[in-house]
Amino acid sequence: MNWQERVSLAQRNTLGIDACAEFFAAVSEEAELAAVLAAARCRDLPLMVLGGGSNIVLAGDVAGLVLQPALRGIRCVAETSTHFLVEAGAGESWHGFVQYSLAQGWYGLENLALIPGTVGASPIQNIGAYGLELTDRFHSLTAMAIDSGELREFSHSDCHFAYRDSVFKQALAQRYVITRVRFLLLKQPQLRLDYGDVRQELAAQGVSVPGPRDVAAAIIALRQRKLPDPAVLGNAGSFFKNPRVSAADFARLQQAYPGLPAYPQDSGEMKLAAGWLIEQAGWKGRRLGPVGAYEKQALVLVNHGGARGSDVLAAARAIQAAVWDKFAVRLEMEPLVYGAEAAAGLPR
Ligand code: FAD
Ligand code: NAP
Repeated sequence: MNWQERVSLAQRNTLGIDACAEFFAAVSEEAELAAVLAAARCRDLPLMVLGGGSNIVLAGDVAGLVLQPALRGIRCVAETSTHFLVEAGAGESWHGFVQYSLAQGWYGLENLALIPGTVGASPIQNIGAYGLELTDRFHSLTAMAIDSGELREFSHSDCHFAYRDSVFKQALAQRYVITRVRFLLLKQPQLRLDYGDVRQELAAQGVSVPGPRDVAAAIIALRQRKLPDPAVLGNAGSFFKNPRVSAADFARLQQAYPGLPAYPQDSGEMKLAAGWLIEQAGWKGRRLGPVGAYEKQALVLVNHGGARGSDVLAAARAIQAAVWDKFAVRLEMEPLVYGAEAAAGLPR
């Protein structure tokens, strides 16, 4: 079995935190995955599943086995008059998959272009951007149970998708390794343009009748302008979820802050822009030690160099406290925390 011991994860998490895995294995086939899981069970090793490391905070070295699913392959497995059913291996790059789909004429993922990470992680938090979520295009997935090595199919309803959430972050957290994900992609484009600056960007690029590839190009340009490239400045994307507040709380806040951006939800709640709250609390561009809120989008915490997980979490807590003091709104972290300090029970 191809396990490595004491492997640095510094290049395997986009925050660029230097932490070590006690053991590390990348697996590219189902049979190999079953064997590795059985061996880890035999040795009673704790297990962490690692994709591209773009939505985690390593708060110390990781005890036990860090397992990276590297199953590859993208293929159309069925089609109807309106849809393609497309399956991708967990180890495929998400953005690579989006680009490949568009090149094949399999439409519908264009708004999710340039999200870092892997296909296998995409259902975990029901990735979303620019008015589209994974749930809108998801069909089903296959996953292997960590405690038995059995393969199980999950339908759309089995996954309990919600805003940046799924059953894999809740009841079934750390219970399954997702191996393959299937998507229902469109034969005829159904563009979603009514979000943020998408239309303005298309106009600025001189596109008057956009197709799916134009939308992807516009979103790539918007993201490249606004978000730090993890290869240059370590980050894990949005560090907090956009909070939902009751209509009564929103009325209270709006009275005090008439410019407060908010979006009505089906539940009757209002979604607030966490980045705006952080900026108003004085944190845009501000640092605590080596970690700061990014100067172009305060919702993104960046590693200015040499940050440890504890530095990231200290900055996160300071921001949570500042937003609470000003607005009495609680910010919940989006990335998951792993490593020694996580085991010691850090607050979420
Ligand atoms: P990791 O960070 O490696 O893991 C995340 C979680 O998924 C962990 O709990 C891990 O155990 C689990 N996991 C990973 N793979 C598997 C698997 N195969 N089976 C079971 N569990 C698994 N997110 C958005 O939703 N929208 C965005 O627009 C967005 N933009 C981003 C921009 C930047 C610059 C960055 C750095 C991040 C952004 N993110 C965004 C967050 C992140 O890219 C996504 O959440 C992505 O899906 C994480 O994928 P990953 O492979 O890196 O997962
Ligand atoms: P933005 O366009 O500046 O918008 C700020 C916030 O307002 C976003 O959080 C967004 O909520 C909300 N919003 C804007 N227009 C909206 C609309 N028409 N309807 C409903 N909500 C609206 O945000 P941004 O930072 O540049 O990011 C653009 C998109 O990429 C967002 O969807 C964001 O979620 C996504 N993104 C996610 C991550 C991550 O790590 N999770 C990182 C970077 C970007 P939503 O976030 O709910 O969409």
